[in-house]
Amino acid sequence: MTSVSEKRKVPLLDMRALHQPIREEVLAAVTRVIDSNAFIMGEDVKLLEKAIAAYSHVPYAIGCASGSDALVLALMAAGVQHGDAVLTTPFTFFATGGSIVRVGATPVFVDIDPLTYNMDPQGLEEAIRRTPRAKAIMPVHLYGGCADMDPIMEIARRRGCMVIEDGAQSIGAEYKGRPAQSIGDIGCISFFPSKNLGGFGDGGMVLTQDEAHAKKLAALRVHGASKKYFHEWVGINSRLDSLQAAVLRVKLQYLDSETSGRQKNAARYRENLSGAGLPIVLSSPAPYQTRHVYNQFVIRTSKRDQLKAHLGENGIGTEIYYPLSLHQQVCFSDLGYREGDFPVSEKAAAEVLALPVHSALSEQDVDYVCQQIRAFFA
Ligand SMILES: *Cc1c(COP(=O)(O)O)cnc(C)c1O
Repeated sequence: MTSVSEKRKVPLLDMRALHQPIREEVLAAVTRVIDSNAFIMGEDVKLLEKAIAAYSHVPYAIGCASGSDALVLALMAAGVQHGDAVLTTPFTFFATGGSIVRVGATPVFVDIDPLTYNMDPQGLEEAIRRTPRAKAIMPVHLYGGCADMDPIMEIARRRGCMVIEDGAQSIGAEYKGRPAQSIGDIGCISFFPSKNLGGFGDGGMVLTQDEAHAKKLAALRVHGASKKYFHEWVGINSRLDSLQAAVLRVKLQYLDSETSGRQKNAARYRENLSGAGLPIVLSSPAPYQTRHVYNQFVIRTSKRDQLKAHLGENGIGTEIYYPLSLHQQVCFSDLGYREGDFPVSEKAAAEVLALPVHSALSEQDVDYVCQQIRAFFA
């Protein structure tokens, strides 16, 4: 028997291991910003915007203070306001629904597909018919895999709705060969440290193909001024720090190799765990998913809480994204939803478990997690 201290530790995310190889490069970039004294909207912000725009195949990218702000800015640029409805998924991080309420609009939830955990286009078709004030649709590309964008775009165009992609977890993901965040009218990404491209603090970016949207977004993040001290709109203060941009420019160079690492680990989990007769669901990427970036690798089981405890006792970090659907959150009780309204989302919330998948894992780490999962069910 091995004692607790001898046990392997497999954290959900290992920042130290990921940052160690790039430490000197990042320090040099940070030093350069300190010496430049350009802390707000400096050269690094402009260069990062250019780089992310190129990476995501869009002409315009506008840095801002967080992924949550990116969503708010996108809704503001799309003209969503009080009295409007925005259709989205209840199975997402809170910011998706929160941003809609913050601009004064009403979230209308659509249940998810049980395999991709993303908005079900058939459900969208039905929900939008009952939503006369529908102004926009906000699909989320959860865990690094895309929502089914073709039918969503078709419904949006038919109804004259804007599409804002919540791509906080999906930088680099591709839908039928097209980058996520380049398909809808506006795409939003997050640089929160645990996202695939994470900074050393908060940060976000808004992407668009449309020049008028780009101009408005660039103004909205500086209180709606397209020229300093002359305000066309009432915006917010939501700028990306030069320090974060400098760090992110370094880290962007390593994003594709880290993504390959995540994909390799996901494949190893699948090989290891499928066909073993385990009572778990390992969903595989949808056929349209030409590139999945595995911000999370998620399994589901009815014994989720017990499995999580067992893995924790054996040094393995896991997390539940997310334990409560948005329609059941206390702050949204006035929307009038109740338990049972979105059964697929509710079941997912009770059963999902994210396993470590970051690129600093060794094959032995992945095998150890699989071995502990098998031991739990044995
Ligand atoms: C992280 C996240 C956000 C918010 O991003 P922040 O940068 O943390 O504000 C929004 N939506 C989803 C789906 C996310 O995962």
